[in-house]
Amino acid sequence: MAIHPIVVYGEPVLHRKADPVVDFDDDLRTLVADMFETLKVSNGVGLAAPQIGVGKQIFVYDADDEVEGRRRRGVFINPILTASRIPDSRPHPDTESEGCLSVPSLDFPLKRANKVTVNGFDENGERISLSAEGWFARIMQHEFDHLQGTLYVDRLDKRWTKKWTRAKADFGYGEPGLSWLPGTDPDPFGHEAVDEDLD
Ligand SMILES: [Zn+2]
Repeated sequence: MAIHPIVVYGEPVLHRKADPVVDFDDDLRTLVADMFETLKVSNGVGLAAPQIGVGKQIFVYDADDEVEGRRRRGVFINPILTASRIPDSRPHPDTESEGCLSVPSLDFPLKRANKVTVNGFDENGERISLSAEGWFARIMQHEFDHLQGTLYVDRLDKRWTKKWTRAKADFGYGEPGLSWLPGTDPDPFGHEAVDEDLD
């Protein structure tokens, strides 16, 4: 397995719709294994293939689902997402802030749908489905968005878009060619290294 560099906002592959996976072969399974490894070392909760420079409809996730009271870990290939309506209210900065491995060091509040269902395939081509609420539903929406070429910062309301636009200039994001290597470069979100294996 290999840890892949994570590309940053501005890299074209992040900003276009990813291609559907056609061949469910060993190369795909290796890529998915690499994505799980990269996600683990990056201390993230989800990772989409475009984030490692691969424009294919694949994402992995690994996070605690507080509504279900358990950890959920898996992959979705060629997913379709259906979501409840996104509330019109303003996002709460403490409880609704989101971050992204491709937008290092930053987080911004964003309103999301509370309930989702995701249908798709696993790395063996088997049909899979998942329903989620609350924070876990947010993760699903965030990762699904990546496969459409949309990052969470592209969805911010007017007020937070202003702050993002300033931060983007400060951090120099928005140009192609930036990346960071999880486990080697400093963790951009300040997570402590975790050695325990939670599997
Ligand atoms: Zn992301």
